[in-house]
Amino acid sequence: MSTVQGRLRIAVQKSGRLADRSLDLIRDAGLKWVKGHNDLLYRVENYPIDLLRVRDDDIPTFVADGVCDLGIVGENVLEEGRNGGANASVVMPLGFGRCTLKIATPPTLAYDGPASLDGLRIATSYPKILRRFLDERGVKAEIVVMRGAVEVAPRLKLAAAICDLVSTGATLEANGLGAKDTVLESQAVLIQSPVAPEPGLQHLLDSIIERMSGVVSSQGAKYVMLNAPRASLDQITAILPGAGSPTVMPLMGRDDAVAVHAVCQEAVFWETLEKLKAAGASAILVLPIEKMM
Ligand code: ATP
Ligand code: ZN
Repeated sequence: MSTVQGRLRIAVQKSGRLADRSLDLIRDAGLKWVKGHNDLLYRVENYPIDLLRVRDDDIPTFVADGVCDLGIVGENVLEEGRNGGANASVVMPLGFGRCTLKIATPPTLAYDGPASLDGLRIATSYPKILRRFLDERGVKAEIVVMRGAVEVAPRLKLAAAICDLVSTGATLEANGLGAKDTVLESQAVLIQSPVAPEPGLQHLLDSIIERMSGVVSSQGAKYVMLNAPRASLDQITAILPGAGSPTVMPLMGRDDAVAVHAVCQEAVFWETLEKLKAAGASAILVLPIEKMM
């Protein structure tokens, strides 16, 4: 029962670190809704789609069970929620919500790799991911599960070390802990249900995925236009970051120079422009890309 009364459902975090960026992505894919009094469900006006707003921890289950067709969730939550049954599959990474699950220790613990954790207690909200990390390295340690404030565990003598999400490291530092080995690199991902939607909605589902993929790949991408001496064309195209094969066009009344247009998949920095100029490029324009398909 993937869909209700002929509508697709997308699960997003209701509030928290992924909430705004998830809605931005859906909006950029062309879906429109008005925030109604129904807090749990946003009704999309221009397509038969509902957005289900829930706690991030529930998203993998909703998608795996077919309650929702798509979902946006952190890889950390997806990995921790995996069980023996049918799972949601990852469609694509979305490039936001980046964080790292790391081992962190107080200065009093001599840490020289995961083996140093042997026989100790480690506090975490991610017991399954941590257990797998330790098992793969043959480390025997006791795991204490904490739902929040994991970073205080060493001070309370609850655990000798912790395994927690880190983005800047400021929280760890404030608690006198140092980040050590990486257990998991995470970002938000689009996940899809193993349960197919009603046949009539498959096309819409495919098109939403394709649009989201276009939004994600156009993020950070730039359209670069410049004039280049024919002689330095190879050198100039080699400088353009992630450009594939650029379009090269003649310039009216000039045999020695051409116009080059390229989609650059990577960031174009001032340094790149300076290098292009040094290689003989002129009239360099860098434009944002709104949509890409
Ligand atoms: P919910 O109420 O939905 O359960 P939560 O408190 O579990 O929310 P948030 O703190 O909003 O979750 O984090 C959601 C996700 O954001 C995390 O699971 C992770 O994928 C990502 N994230 C990015 N940076 C960080 C960070 N510094 N700390 C924690 N999570 C981060
Ligand atoms: Zn959560």
